Amino acid sequence: MEQPFIPFNKPFLAGQELVHIQQALAHGKLSGNGYFTQHSQQFLQARYGLGRALLTTSGTAALEMAALLLGIQPGDEVIVPSFTFTSTANAFVLRGATIVFADSLPHHPNLDTDQVAALLTPRTRAIVPVHYAGVACDMAPLLALSRAHEQLFIVEDAAQAIEGRYHEQPLGAVGHLAAFSFHETKNIICGEGGMLAINDPAFAARAEILWEKGTNRAAFFRGEVARYQWVDVGSSFLPSELNAAYLWGQLQQLEAIQERRTAQWQRYYEALRPLARQGCFALPFVPDYARHNAHIFYLLCTGLAERDALIRHLGRHQILAVSHYQPLHASPFYRARHDGRPLPHATAHAERLVRLPLYYELSSAEQQQVIAAVQRFYLGPPAR
Ligand SMILES: *Cc1c(COP(=O)(O)O)cnc(C)c1O
Repeated sequence: MEQPFIPFNKPFLAGQELVHIQQALAHGKLSGNGYFTQHSQQFLQARYGLGRALLTTSGTAALEMAALLLGIQPGDEVIVPSFTFTSTANAFVLRGATIVFADSLPHHPNLDTDQVAALLTPRTRAIVPVHYAGVACDMAPLLALSRAHEQLFIVEDAAQAIEGRYHEQPLGAVGHLAAFSFHETKNIICGEGGMLAINDPAFAARAEILWEKGTNRAAFFRGEVARYQWVDVGSSFLPSELNAAYLWGQLQQLEAIQERRTAQWQRYYEALRPLARQGCFALPFVPDYARHNAHIFYLLCTGLAERDALIRHLGRHQILAVSHYQPLHASPFYRARHDGRPLPHATAHAERLVRLPLYYELSSAEQQQVIAAVQRFYLGPPAR
């Protein structure tokens, strides 16, 4: 029987995105920091209680701004989980930092906060927890370390974590700085886009200058300075109004988007729980302190061979399921620079994890096709 192809991800329209893009053109402003940029920033700032929010061209750009704001220099050390996307580390490597990779928890890809204290040296300037799949890292121990050490900052990589919570606190509002992403694979999208949250007011004024190519243009437009000039280093970190207009359409539908994803996530969870109980694989673990945002639904297979066989099996059933990160400490770029510590839990997650299709337009019939294919892999063809 020919079944329809189910992709892993699919960019989507949730409401008025295209209307807003036309409005941006009608406003006569497509460059950055216009109506839709400011609307989106104010909305997210208020919703999550962020100190200040600046849209960026990507989550990567937001992390690069964070590294610049912290004044990271050659010789500085930054603690990053090994199980993450390259940008988490790259943003700091670009400034000359040495990356000290931390291992994952045994039962979750997030970094093991208990091990972080042992990695600190007098040169450690930042810890960058990644809220994988929108599940919060345990932030309290990291914040305690930051308070106990001068000039040690917490930068949340909240690229996947919009709407997630740590206890009652929104993710992205916990650290001194935080990076969000609106890449087309995330919950809320605008093609390529991101946001820097500046929760420590000490960084707010300079953030706006770095954002606008080292000028005080934003202050000039508010009428706070008489002339706009080159006052610091910077780059073009702000996105076009085209992206911000699309983003604003998504933000207006934020709750509907999240409701749908949460229902999809829950459907997978319920349907696959019996197989997990039989020991076929582990389901995502969500600690008591975390409220996740249904960003990723993954299974942890028993090992690499089985994981790869499952991905091939799903492929034969017209379903694109994918693994996730190669641990960065073992990457071609960094392995010779890594200090040699084995990071067994990051490695195990890289070998065992498979992500199932999860996107706004995924129908329950399509989800049922995925669920049936997973069941068939473990249990054989259904009895007639
Ligand atoms: C997506 C992602 C990024 C990068 O975001 P972009 O917007 O694609 O630059 C960084 N870190 C993590 C954990 C991500 O998932």
